[in-house]
Amino acid sequence: MREVKLFINGEFRATSRSYTSTDPATNVAVAKVYLPSETDIDDAVDAAARAFTSKEWKQLDQVKRAEILEAIAEKMKVRRNELVELEVADSGSSVRKAKADVQNAASYFKVLAGQLRRFQFEVKDEAASRPGFSQNYKVYEPVGVCAQIIPWNFPLVMAAWKIGPVIASGCTTVLKTAQETPVTAGILSEILQEVGLPPGVVNIITGGAAEGEYLLNNPKVKKVAFTGSTEVGRKIMERAGKNLQRVSLELGGKSANIVLGDADLSIAVDGALYAFLYHSGQACDSGTRLFVEEKIYPEFRDALVKRIADVRVALPSDPSAGYGPVINQRQADRILNYIAVTKKEGGKLLYGGNRKTGAEFENGYFIEPTLFEVTPAHTIFHQEIFGPVLAITPVKDEEEAIRLANSSDYGLAGAVWSRNPQRARNVARQLEAGTVWINEYHLLNPGMPFGGYKQSGLGREMGEEGLKAYLEVKHLWVSDCDQRSKKPWYDVLFE
Ligand code: NAD
Repeated sequence: MREVKLFINGEFRATSRSYTSTDPATNVAVAKVYLPSETDIDDAVDAAARAFTSKEWKQLDQVKRAEILEAIAEKMKVRRNELVELEVADSGSSVRKAKADVQNAASYFKVLAGQLRRFQFEVKDEAASRPGFSQNYKVYEPVGVCAQIIPWNFPLVMAAWKIGPVIASGCTTVLKTAQETPVTAGILSEILQEVGLPPGVVNIITGGAAEGEYLLNNPKVKKVAFTGSTEVGRKIMERAGKNLQRVSLELGGKSANIVLGDADLSIAVDGALYAFLYHSGQACDSGTRLFVEEKIYPEFRDALVKRIADVRVALPSDPSAGYGPVINQRQADRILNYIAVTKKEGGKLLYGGNRKTGAEFENGYFIEPTLFEVTPAHTIFHQEIFGPVLAITPVKDEEEAIRLANSSDYGLAGAVWSRNPQRARNVARQLEAGTVWINEYHLLNPGMPFGGYKQSGLGREMGEEGLKAYLEVKHLWVSDCDQRSKKPWYDVLFE
């Protein structure tokens, strides 16, 4: 069986504790995975701390670091088939989703390399400097040792979003993958070794909450980057406050998908399905609250119910699968519980609502695509489910749609569907969310920032903002000796 070892100081390490990672569609073993002890985690942080101050890492300038990022992207493409196969088996991603994930992760490293080549680590203040007297600079410097924690839904993409800016900025890190989906990060470790990244710059371990907490408590950690639930994110922020660690949080969502009366119905129906069914609804930016203008609501609802019957829930290895299983029994129970609560609260079930039955689904965790018509009085209008369940609410007009969309504690993403670009932009601008699509859903541009308003997070990943999240900024003041001696104290004022 494949083995996933810890990756510490550029070497692979087996330990005395291990478990078997299984395929959520079939329950078949995918890999034997080694868990770190507290000593292993300390070793990983020590390796990151040594690497951070090492000459070998410091002397790699931004061009050389960009070359490393490009080399990672290339190696990922070479190992594409293996990565796709393992991501499908370990995370229950459909083949189509896994192919897109590998492509997106590789493309992120490549785009980041381009940004890094252009990024100015030293910026002179041309407006305020006084020629002949002083010069002022903003100097961007790496924050230091990072601890990064990722969830199970997009294992490879999440690892890329974390490791990329570490390498770009000159930081070092210990990345903890989710215990449910550690396998493709094992391949990424091999790639990091192959491209000649200095030992200790990126260390990768796995584990659950206990390993995550232990890692974050290490005083050598200067920055914490976490992607996961809002509940855990809140705890992490509280703990980080004690040592004033820098914090980036990418958290949960309950994103609003707004269909205006002038939308192109066929693409909006398709978009509404893709928005909430992508990866069995286990995407943080899923469009799980659908608002449809009343005047088109009956027609739209009927078209959606008709179209949803075509969605193929199947083994993810089947190339025609629309989507596959959810990650585990706990997640399946959580989703089915939300469905039961909504029925009890009087939500109107329009489609689905059950676990999938049949021989093909026996050993996995498959849930039917489920549509409920609800009002803000229903629990699922507010709470993140992380499964293939959509809450639909008809609205009088765009003002009501915007008000209800913004009534959420979350603010990760959203979308507007309309044939009128000006009207759609006007609505999009009023949504409290980090990403808003118009006539589109789920597509991300690695050159642009991604992250949440409100309780969906803090800070941004990707884009220039994502790189700056790993940098401190220093104001460097340089006075000229000869000129300085001619100036009395207090006389040196800016205009
Ligand atoms: P989770 O918060 O339970 O776990 C996320 C990670 O944190 C895992 O690696 C887990 O082992 C670790 N962890 C759990 N408790 C911890 C603790 N006390 N201290 C340190 N680490 C701890 O989330 P999940 O169930 O794995 O993932 C689903 C959630 O992630 C959803 O809420 C989803 O919206 C969110 N998510 C957000 C984004 C985003 O970019 N905003 C992306 C993907 C997922």
